[in-house]
Amino acid sequence: MQKLPHSGLDFINGQPYIQTQSALMFDSVYTFAAALVEMNRSHLLTPHNISCAAEDPWDNGLSLYNYISSASINGLTGRVNFAEGRRNKFQIDLLKLKRDKIQKVGFWKPEVGVNITDPTAFYDVHTANTTLVVMTREEKPYVMVKNGVNKTGNVRFEGFCIDLLKAIAKQVGFQYKIELVPDNMYGVYNPDTNTWNGIVRELMERRADLAVASMTINYARESVIDFTKPFMNLGIGILFKVPTSQPTRLFSFMNPLAMEIWLYVLAAYVLVSFTLFVMARFSPYEWNNPHPCMKETDIVENQFSVSNSFWFITGTFLRQGSGLNPKATSTRIVGGIWWFFTLIIISSYTANLAAFLTVERMITPIESASDLADQTDISYGTLEGGSTMTFFRDSKISIYQKMWQYMENRRGTVFVKTYENGIKRVIEGNYAFLMESTMLDYAVQRDCNLTQIGGLLDSKGYGIATPKGSPWRDPLSLAILELQEKGIIQILYDKWWKNTGDVCNRDEKSKESKANALGVENIGGVFVVLLCGLALAVVVAILEFCWNSKKTMQLAENQSLCSEMAEELRYAMHCHTSKQRPSLNRKCVKCTPDSTYVPAELGSGIPNASGVHYNYFN
Ligand code: ASP
Repeated sequence: MQKLPHSGLDFINGQPYIQTQSALMFDSVYTFAAALVEMNRSHLLTPHNISCAAEDPWDNGLSLYNYISSASINGLTGRVNFAEGRRNKFQIDLLKLKRDKIQKVGFWKPEVGVNITDPTAFYDVHTANTTLVVMTREEKPYVMVKNGVNKTGNVRFEGFCIDLLKAIAKQVGFQYKIELVPDNMYGVYNPDTNTWNGIVRELMERRADLAVASMTINYARESVIDFTKPFMNLGIGILFKVPTSQPTRLFSFMNPLAMEIWLYVLAAYVLVSFTLFVMARFSPYEWNNPHPCMKETDIVENQFSVSNSFWFITGTFLRQGSGLNPKATSTRIVGGIWWFFTLIIISSYTANLAAFLTVERMITPIESASDLADQTDISYGTLEGGSTMTFFRDSKISIYQKMWQYMENRRGTVFVKTYENGIKRVIEGNYAFLMESTMLDYAVQRDCNLTQIGGLLDSKGYGIATPKGSPWRDPLSLAILELQEKGIIQILYDKWWKNTGDVCNRDEKSKESKANALGVENIGGVFVVLLCGLALAVVVAILEFCWNSKKTMQLAENQSLCSEMAEELRYAMHCHTSKQRPSLNRKCVKCTPDSTYVPAELGSGIPNASGVHYNYFN
């Protein structure tokens, strides 16, 4: 009908369009006509008069009904089909009158029922006059009640979330009224009572339209309320008091080297002194004529007595002279390797001592969440009624489960009602507070006595919460994304975290640099070098001994090499306290300290190098 060009039919029932009733009427007649045409093809239609009173049915009536039921035509209201006498496979569009036009918002089908394709159409979001109730909770620096201002309404509040809300409201176009949540909780689920509390409950019971606060998005909450896209990312961190400096001790000078290094040095000192002494005994080149001018004398002297050996090693260790100088190759190797050892040890000690004197040593009793879990001396807890608490409660990770056990057993003492109380407890000492990193950063930046221990335990975000199915969620998410991309959220973060003027200045350098005692893993190699040097010296000493025995054997003609070596060995071992011995033809009768061999012609009156007279024997 609409297609008919002449104006006389432009209006049907005074309307410029076909109404549902007219269209259905048209389709009914059209279907009936189509059925009759079909029937006429196979039946001879001979209608005759029938009486309403006689209850005499028309014979072809049932056939016509069946033809109508199987008819399939394209009508004004769509395809016309019937099933069991009812029209099927049709769709009714749901239209909604918007501010300026009618819009399709869904449809109805006999087999599926109503399907709303545009739920937001049922809320008039863009009404500029709408005033939303915004629920929040006092939390520094997100929402703070202004000090000493006798104001009412939204101007009472300031903070990051208040600025964010202002920017979003302007963007989306709504008015708002801020209210503080009565029980001052974010909201946790209580499985015993099957209820929620805090902001979550207010939203579930639709006493608020939005919640703008440091409200963490988590699984449990998302299943009962809606969240926008996150406007800030964070994780759980550990707040702890800055460790106190180590008290200075009387024996702090020992700190640069680990205890075991000191013990190894002592052992090396004794070992090298003793090796030097033994080697000097064995090595023929350490036996020298004490009076070089008297060439014919048969007396030789050894400078490395036990005390002299220790004195030489002590003097060189402390980088002083000792007046003694090794002459044989083997003893020189011992001396050289010892000098190398002392060079490394002394320079390592000096360098690390300097570091120890300039760096403040800190005692850090805990360094991670697992350290916390493994001890009970330092108590720890979270905010009560928040997502941090439920993180530990619901976690399947054994460390966090252990921590939850600890916290739950001390429920009355470890949980705090506000973040401020938690921070205060940390400053008082012996308490670690598990809190969200954003608030943690804020606290650490402002108080030099506070620090973060370890990394973050998880990763999540803050979002604006709305009741389930709220039409405001999408426009709010869009606004958050736009503010994020424009950098406005970053500007707000800097405003409330960094540029507030009450930030504490830390000496970052001293915090980072840490001096540690040098252990075996650092300078253990020098001990290996020392042992190798000593082994080399022993080999050289044995060669020297053999070489000299051979030489002496040739001079003392009636001696065999073996007996000569045995003789030399006897001297080296038995005369251990004597400094002197004959170079050849030795007759060491009594090797006692006082019975030093001196030839007769050097008799009385001739003082030795130390001014002591030699005794006679032989
Ligand atoms: N922002 C948190 C919350 O939404 C508070 C916390 O538990 O640390 O519950």
